[in-house]
Amino acid sequence: MDSAPQLQPVNVRIVLVETTHAGNIGAVARAMRNMCVTELVLVNPKKFPHPDAVARASGALAELDNAKVVATLEEAVAGCNYVFGTTARERGLDWQPDTPQSTAEKIVAAGAEAPCAIVFGRERSGLTNEEVEMCTHTVNIPTNPKFSSLNLGMAVQVLTYELMKARGGQVATKAVDEEANALPAPADAFEAMIKHMEEAMTHSGFYDPNDPRMTQRRMRQIFRQANLDAAQVNMLRGMWNSVLQLPKGPHSKS
Ligand code: SAH
Repeated sequence: MDSAPQLQPVNVRIVLVETTHAGNIGAVARAMRNMCVTELVLVNPKKFPHPDAVARASGALAELDNAKVVATLEEAVAGCNYVFGTTARERGLDWQPDTPQSTAEKIVAAGAEAPCAIVFGRERSGLTNEEVEMCTHTVNIPTNPKFSSLNLGMAVQVLTYELMKARGGQVATKAVDEEANALPAPADAFEAMIKHMEEAMTHSGFYDPNDPRMTQRRMRQIFRQANLDAAQVNMLRGMWNSVLQLPKGPHSKS
């Protein structure tokens, strides 16, 4: 379902415990579709199915239609090797919670054969201590300590985004890739462009006639850093040509 082919396979379900607002379930479905996660399990939702869920899903309807509704958390996480319980609060646990990143890495490392769950709590009260104890791991999204509770849909977004990154999801578009793959211009073409630039800068009067060297060196450095390809070098030469056709600048010595 819209899953980009190059993503590493995972076996993960998003579990929402006793969600009050159906709109949040829709927002979760949308976040999941955005990040190529498909399995949604709802533990005893207050209102579901519901038009608010459809409205907030923004078209991610398959995730809602295929959502499994169960009565208990035990049922929701049955068969899971890893169960990550998300929590906004310090719970005085004697272990460090995972970060969203380390959670995602563990899920990817577990692979397609090991079912994993990420469990999200109620909007008002989160997960109970008993529910947290049922999890094999806890996860905390780093936040402002004085304002640590994210909206449910946003918490799912953060975790699924980390999962997308850990699975190798690429942000680069085709155009960016092509640009990155272009070879740098040959050294002689680069040198010819620099010479051409020097002519144009002298013609325009941009170079300080008393000290052209520093400016020349700095300009050369700027263009080196740009890692220009042949087409870009040619474009710059077009620009220098048009500068050379202008009347000479006020400080021009040539
Ligand atoms: N007041 C509740 C927060 C409820 S927010 C509490 O203190 O736990 C609803 C759900 O979103 C939480 O149960 C959790 O699953 C998730 N969530 C919100 N903020 C989070 C955070 N900073 N880190 C991890 N999960 C978070």
